[in-house]
Amino acid sequence: MLKIENLHASIEEKEILKGLNIEVKPGEVHAIMGPNGAGKSTLSSVIAGREEYEVTEGSIEFNGEEIGEMEADERAHKGIFMSFQYPVEIPGISVTNFIKTAINETRKAQGLEDMPASDMLKKIKEKAELLEIDRKFLSRSLNEGFSGGEKKRNEIFQMAMLEPKLAILDETDSGLDIDALKIVANGVNKLKSKDNAVIVITHYQRLLDYIVPDFVHVLYDGKIVKSGTKELALELEAKGYDWIKQEVTA
Ligand code: ADP
Ligand code: MG
Ligand code: MG
Repeated sequence: MLKIENLHASIEEKEILKGLNIEVKPGEVHAIMGPNGAGKSTLSSVIAGREEYEVTEGSIEFNGEEIGEMEADERAHKGIFMSFQYPVEIPGISVTNFIKTAINETRKAQGLEDMPASDMLKKIKEKAELLEIDRKFLSRSLNEGFSGGEKKRNEIFQMAMLEPKLAILDETDSGLDIDALKIVANGVNKLKSKDNAVIVITHYQRLLDYIVPDFVHVLYDGKIVKSGTKELALELEAKGYDWIKQEVTA
């Protein structure tokens, strides 16, 4: 599904990703961990196509197609979803109306008509039930006065509605409490299927107490320097990142 080879990317002339490789197949959950400043958020932004970042070398293939030069919108329409670290508040637009618009825009880009209102309602109801989101929440103004947990709930709801092929969740926010992490984890666990894939970026091992990743990667100094399974996350929790640094520089 996603195949990244020798990816180099810069922001403001500064190279952040320095030859990164990763491959993600349908049905897999990958966790990317690593110390602050390693390039984790840069990687998610580069995959999503945020324009501040410049890809200087390497390739990003999504379902066999090179997407490294595509606009963020186009990538989203192809099924790449990225959570926002700093979600915008939109007073007067409800959680539901926002997602309706997003879905119909995606359909339009795919040459489809708007989703019939009754189907939309049915889908909203189904996903809200699955994620145990109540109606009151759905009619609130987008992100206005949302707690950390409510922002996460909204994000997971958007993901459930859009049904992306690849979801990238960058859990950088140190303000997240356990409840918020559980919302993310439960959402990921409920939404994962054999056809979609999830990349969860975090420097908190505790998120991985609730999501069981198929693979754990360590991103250090712009590269994936180590990959393993859940045990690697536990090892990182116990030993920190210093031993990785030593291995890399040895
Ligand atoms: P992580 O998410 O792993 O903590 P980031 O991808 O946010 O790391 O950042 C990687 C490096 O890129 C850091 O050294 C950071 O200072 C730098 N960086 C991030 N954003 C910018 C920016 N807008 N301008 C300049 N440098 C940046
Ligand atoms: Mg950071
Ligand atoms: Mg980050």
